[in-house]
Amino acid sequence: MPITEDQPVVTITRRGADRIRSAHVWVYRSDVVQAEGVSPGAVVLVQEAHKSSGNAGKSAHSTPSQRSVAQGRNRATQPSSDTNVRATRMLGSAFYSTASEIAIRMISPKPVKDVGQLIRERVRAAISYRERFVKDTNAYRVIFSEGDFLPGLIVDKYNDILSLQVLTQAWDPEPMRKLFLSELQDALQPKAIVERSDPRVRRLEQLPEKESGIVWLSPNLYTDVIPNRLSGEKPAVPEREAGSSSVRSAALLGMTSRRVGATGASPVEGSETAITTEFHMNGVHFVYDALAGQKTGAFLDQRENYAAAEKYARGEALDVFTYQGGFALHLARSCDKVTGVDSSRPALEAADQNAALNGREIEWIEANAFDLLRDYSDSGRKYDTIVLDPPAFAKSRQTRETAIRGYKELNLRALKMLPPGGILVTCSCSYHVSATDLLEVLSSAALDSHRNLRILENRGQAKDHPSVLGVPETAYLKCLISVVS
Ligand code: SAH
Repeated sequence: MPITEDQPVVTITRRGADRIRSAHVWVYRSDVVQAEGVSPGAVVLVQEAHKSSGNAGKSAHSTPSQRSVAQGRNRATQPSSDTNVRATRMLGSAFYSTASEIAIRMISPKPVKDVGQLIRERVRAAISYRERFVKDTNAYRVIFSEGDFLPGLIVDKYNDILSLQVLTQAWDPEPMRKLFLSELQDALQPKAIVERSDPRVRRLEQLPEKESGIVWLSPNLYTDVIPNRLSGEKPAVPEREAGSSSVRSAALLGMTSRRVGATGASPVEGSETAITTEFHMNGVHFVYDALAGQKTGAFLDQRENYAAAEKYARGEALDVFTYQGGFALHLARSCDKVTGVDSSRPALEAADQNAALNGREIEWIEANAFDLLRDYSDSGRKYDTIVLDPPAFAKSRQTRETAIRGYKELNLRALKMLPPGGILVTCSCSYHVSATDLLEVLSSAALDSHRNLRILENRGQAKDHPSVLGVPETAYLKCLISVVS
């Protein structure tokens, strides 16, 4: 099993090594010099190659004296069998991907002997971090990939349901899953764990296709609920699995496509019920259907921004790109009237359920936000508060310019509809559009709409999505709250 095998060595260029020394954890494939025979998702030892001659590759940038120091130091500890590589420096342990452009994701600057223990400790540390810093909610990101030093793994908690996403080869094998799942079960005692698999990510990582579904159900739930659902069917747990592990894989249970109620567990029409629960944040309540919706279900990264927006919002509010009503439901506590706009009908249906759950009346409009904002601003409509929280327009550096034009259009239209004293909450979750870019977009939209803007708050993502210095990709969400004057 990949966790305990002897770790193969991967050699990288100096450029790759410098990146690691500057506290980043990724090394791109173009910086991998030697990784022959390394299996997908393996835990590897990473070493830097010092080439002996100028034509030996991209890493030959050191001066002769630097080289001899490095060679002298390393020859004693790391003799290399490669004649082209005179000396090496160990950089630590990493997960290796045979498919992704990000070939290496470091997990430690030291060689890790017991990867299982490291992962268990990091899962525990991630949970303690939330206990310390996450407030006023029972829904938060428990594991944020590189942000929690567990690169490639995402786990969200929605009350008693955990929802996970595997983003790299390393986390997919069964032994690895057992490891982190059992740790999560012990520490968080969920009723169910589901996996939201992203077909695009799995293709990029050359992982076999996998449907989203249940990966684990609490034994209580199993005895209380499943037998009723499975009447007439064969026992779902194969003999050799029964009682042999605290991790019950849905694949073993043969229930990947079956959906079972986790709380309330009320049957719905047909043989399927939903894995559902309710969660709350900042005193606002939400319904959660674990196998529906986008991402792992809700946009937890906006939790603290919802509360901030609510503080300033007033009058009549428009929440554009509302999804399941995250901002709208918060604004409803401080505004006279709230309208939420989204192009997704299922999202608005969930938003409406959320409104009912909180005893709020909110108007939902199914529309293309660009069309609606153009029509409204052209016809002179006014709002006292507008929230813009579009999807990531720039998925890559190449689409940055187009994305910036999209943000500009939205912000310009919104500003035209805001009278003096009006509040604009504008967000971007595109990593490739920086905080500075968004400020520039806003400045130029303010100029074009003849508005003066003052920034009340310049915010980022909630603390359960920790951004690590050295890995800028972990900081992606921007949220500017400003007042028109
Ligand atoms: N504000 C939300 C998250 C928004 S995610 C929250 O806090 O939960 C982006 C949303 O934009 C999605 O719900 C998606 O359905 C919607 N969307 C994408 N393109 C759109 C468009 N052109 N017009 C309206 N909505 C759109």
